[in-house]
Amino acid sequence: MEKPEDLQELELDVRGMTCDSCAVHVENALRRVPGVRQATVPGWKSGRASVVAGGEIDPAALRASMAEAGYTAAVRTARPARGRQGKDNGGGGDFDLMVIGHGSAGFAAAIKAAELGRTVALVGEGTVGGTCVNIGCVPSKTLIRSLEQHHLAGQNRFRGVHTSAGPIHWPQVLDHKDELVNDMRRAKYLDVLDGYPQITHIQGRALLTGGNRVEVNGVSFAPGKIVIATGGRPWAPPIPGLANTPHLDSTSALELRELPRSMIVLGGNAVGLELAQVYARAGVYVTVLELLPRIAPFEDEDVSAGLTGYLEDEGLRIVAGLQTDHVEWRGGRFTLTGTKNEAEVSFEAEQLLVATGRRPNTEGLGLEQAGVERGRRGEIIVDDQLQTSNPDIYAAGDVLGRDMFVYVAAYGGTLAAENALAGVGRVYDASYIPRITFTDPQIASAGLTEAQALQQGHEVKVSRLPMEVLPRALAARDTRGFIKLVVDVASDRLLGAHILVPEAGEIIQTAVLAIRFGLTVSDLRGTMFPYLTNAEGLKLALLALEKDVAMLSCCAG
Ligand SMILES: Cc1cc2nc3c(=O)[nH]c(=O)nc-3n(C[C@H](O)[C@H](O)[C@H](O)COP(=O)(O)OP(=O)(O)OC[C@H]3O[C@@H](n4cnc5c(N)ncnc54)[C@H](O)[C@@H]3O)c2cc1C
Repeated sequence: MEKPEDLQELELDVRGMTCDSCAVHVENALRRVPGVRQATVPGWKSGRASVVAGGEIDPAALRASMAEAGYTAAVRTARPARGRQGKDNGGGGDFDLMVIGHGSAGFAAAIKAAELGRTVALVGEGTVGGTCVNIGCVPSKTLIRSLEQHHLAGQNRFRGVHTSAGPIHWPQVLDHKDELVNDMRRAKYLDVLDGYPQITHIQGRALLTGGNRVEVNGVSFAPGKIVIATGGRPWAPPIPGLANTPHLDSTSALELRELPRSMIVLGGNAVGLELAQVYARAGVYVTVLELLPRIAPFEDEDVSAGLTGYLEDEGLRIVAGLQTDHVEWRGGRFTLTGTKNEAEVSFEAEQLLVATGRRPNTEGLGLEQAGVERGRRGEIIVDDQLQTSNPDIYAAGDVLGRDMFVYVAAYGGTLAAENALAGVGRVYDASYIPRITFTDPQIASAGLTEAQALQQGHEVKVSRLPMEVLPRALAARDTRGFIKLVVDVASDRLLGAHILVPEAGEIIQTAVLAIRFGLTVSDLRGTMFPYLTNAEGLKLALLALEKDVAMLSCCAG
């Protein structure tokens, strides 16, 4: 088996790439050259490619293969693979740390290790950056914003009229989204790597082969420690017939070049609801089907009910408490049959988007050989310091099967690397994680829901402030939603905040800090909040626990 020290890294200038598929053709052409172990094009606009090869490689062979594929290439640099010397970490390994997965958790882990002065191999298959930048947060949020603007253009809240925004230029919207994704992938992932010479990025699939050994592209490594950050992928439930249909998932739904006339969205949680509203605002007739009794099922009931109303006002059809029994695709149409309130119901549409959650990427990773335990849904089991059942292996991010947010992935990646390399024993704290559903209005929550607080035995005070009393909302002529705060009577501390208002995500952080640092209601009430902001609603909601906020003068004094 080849050793890491036999590898050579080459940087190439490439001419002739004009689109995303060119990047793929160039990678394939390079991989066809004997000796090439991996080839990566960091986006076609880069005009660059990097190659890792076993031993000496003939630049003429690289040029010839590229010419055959229709591109021109010149070798800019050739050097022994970075980081191959490694450090003696006592484990006989070549890198101090190997991070498996080059998404947000993986990058955070690798950067922390580099900051600690260690050598790191960052191994990843698929497009660098993983889910968030390529097929998750970034593309979905820019689509949501585009459609929000389109929707607003069709409204004039100031005059109380609704006008038509005109047809949407969907292909253009998708092109803008792709452009942003490429730019952010470059700025936040590829370019970042250039700043950390301690990190060797290896494109390829990693396989744990026992102990702390890992095989990548036929090369065997023995890093001192390992962080697994292999993320997750969309999951579809085993509904009879579903697997045989060409349904969409959250990834393909972000790439749909032609707008259908109708769409069923199966799954009424964050990802399903966000995409449902995007497509509805683009003019598609959307039906959301949810198995649980309400959409946004993990929020308090009044939050779910509020959002249901606003989505229905926009023309979405929401059906909750529906058990889907069968799916069929015939003549270009999907038919879902199911049971609701013991009656058979059926729904038809041109497109079906399945947004029923995600499952961790742990299959075929060699976890059994490495002695790493998994849970029922394939998630890696870790302790409160993110250490797995193999003491040299840690895990972070979506592969843990919970708290699937990019900032949690990054937090976990940093913590795992620090614990693995510096033995600092930092504990993973999930008690205040903010959760945003990027619908319009948004849901932003943190801490305990009212139901959870009661279940946990707290005696609570609850304030529910409708936006009609908030000056900012009145000035913006948009009084949709409310702010709900759950306060512990005994300690006077904020236990939870649940906000259903436009841009709720921009205000939740005040509540997050209050929950995390145990601020009391009187601490918050005694703090000035700027007038004519939505954040002022938090203070008004707290004041409303004791007085009639209608009796206040201009602001929450
Ligand atoms: C549609 C959508 C919208 C979202 N919106 C938001 C949002 O607005 N805000 C938010 O906070 N979160 C959002 N998320 C969630 C967020 O994207 C994820 O929580 C986050 O990206 C997870 O990061 P990760 O590093 O754990 O995994 P990933 O980013 O998935 O990275 C894992 C990487 O590991 C690679 N890999 C897998 N197996 C191997 C192997 N054997 N060897 C080598 N490499 C391997 C994968 O190819 C991938 O590159 C969204 C998700 C989706 C799907």
